[in-house]
Amino acid sequence: KIRKPVAQIITYFFAEKGKPLAINDFLEKELVAEVCDKYELEYLFDDEKTTTAGDRGFLAEEHKGEAESRPPVVTVMGHVDHGKTTLLDTLRKRSVAASEAGGITQRIGAYTVELDGQKITFIDTPGHEAFTAMRARGAQVTDIAVLVVAADDGVMPQTREAIAHARAAEVPIIVAINKIDKDGADPQMTRQSLSEEGVLADDWGGDIPMVEVSAKQNINLDGLLEILNLTAEMSELKAVREDDAAGIVLESTFDTTKGCLATLLVQRGTLKKGDWAVAGCNVCRVRLMQNDAGGEVLEASPSTAVQVTGFQDAPTAGDQFEVYKTAQEARAVADKREREMSRGPVGFAGLGSDSEQTMKLALILKTDAQGSIAAVKHMFSEVKDSKYVNLRWVLAAPGPITDSDIELASTCPQGQKVMVLGFNTNVSPTAERTAKERGVMIQNFNVIYELFDTVVAALEGELTQEE
Ligand code: GDP
Repeated sequence: KIRKPVAQIITYFFAEKGKPLAINDFLEKELVAEVCDKYELEYLFDDEKTTTAGDRGFLAEEHKGEAESRPPVVTVMGHVDHGKTTLLDTLRKRSVAASEAGGITQRIGAYTVELDGQKITFIDTPGHEAFTAMRARGAQVTDIAVLVVAADDGVMPQTREAIAHARAAEVPIIVAINKIDKDGADPQMTRQSLSEEGVLADDWGGDIPMVEVSAKQNINLDGLLEILNLTAEMSELKAVREDDAAGIVLESTFDTTKGCLATLLVQRGTLKKGDWAVAGCNVCRVRLMQNDAGGEVLEASPSTAVQVTGFQDAPTAGDQFEVYKTAQEARAVADKREREMSRGPVGFAGLGSDSEQTMKLALILKTDAQGSIAAVKHMFSEVKDSKYVNLRWVLAAPGPITDSDIELASTCPQGQKVMVLGFNTNVSPTAERTAKERGVMIQNFNVIYELFDTVVAALEGELTQEE
């Protein structure tokens, strides 16, 4: 809300206050006040009842009500063909069969299933691309990541990517070892290959729950849901219900008869028919709300997704929305944002080159082959110099540099400088474009020493800046 890069704020607390914060942390009132003081912003707390200028904004975390537990929001990730879509379909069909309404369903971008009275919401766009694109926009949608790994295939490149993305988002991972019905399925081998990625099963001394399932044959999906409920319980997910709603735009489409349809995931408060919501610069009077079963609802509570009509223009997926008391207030916020946007976007560009201190250098490396990764990493490990502890490998994987790597770079949480490096690989044209848009630099090398020297120079630059 204060339109400063989140990295700057994290860096401020870490470097000046020695207080490590992650991108999803809530700031206590005192810390909010401190941030405002730092940027010389005027602020008033909600409970002091003086919301001004239509920008009820960033102090809204100071709720009126008690936080109550809410269902987890889950994203399914994994390598192509490992069964993500099948898993989401089967879970959904089971839930439809179990519900009384039965039959009529519509795909709105997320759906909620129930096991023993416990609800779980699944984002039904599989894969980490959507997940990461949302995070790049500053929206944290997911509480838990389900990593689907086919038991006849084991860890594959996108499995590694998904692990890196889930870790960067600091969300708990649950592994679904899928296709156990297939000839050639080898769950033990799959566990083995996951352990090589540092994903160690809880019964192997690690802390990652793993369940063996068949998405296609509907085997042990209850087991998966149980573990999800357990993990959610441990994460103590909470939200205030009795408040104006706020959340994320998951999808938006245009329907020739109904106009703009947007799926909103409520993250706190309760969204009601007739509410005035703002997403980005778009105002919406919530006219009709439908749930994933296609039925009309009048209210949506935290962790539920509803498709709403009433937006004038389609909002962007990943935008946050919040509800305002009156049409005037909502319009004032949207207008103000529009004016600000025309002054140019604030984004990733300043990260790291800022005068503020940076802590580490984060690296995303793509190469032609697994062997090259080992060669590059080996080169750094050979140098016994303490400054190399400042390097962090966010992702090292074979393959071309794609959009998803750039998205990952632009979500890097801890105020770090990030480099996207290629070694003997290609850069997809869309990645190049996205990188430009987001101010992420891609550097591609064919000579390993050049890569090494470039990283060393960047690191030294960072460290000098710190002194
Ligand atoms: P995605 O690319 O990860 O979304 O994978 P899909 O869900 O499209 O699945 C890829 C293929 O694997 C499809 O032909 C599915 O029918 C098949 N498949 C998915 N889950 C299972 C399973 O549990 N057992 C078997 N035998 N096949 C599966």
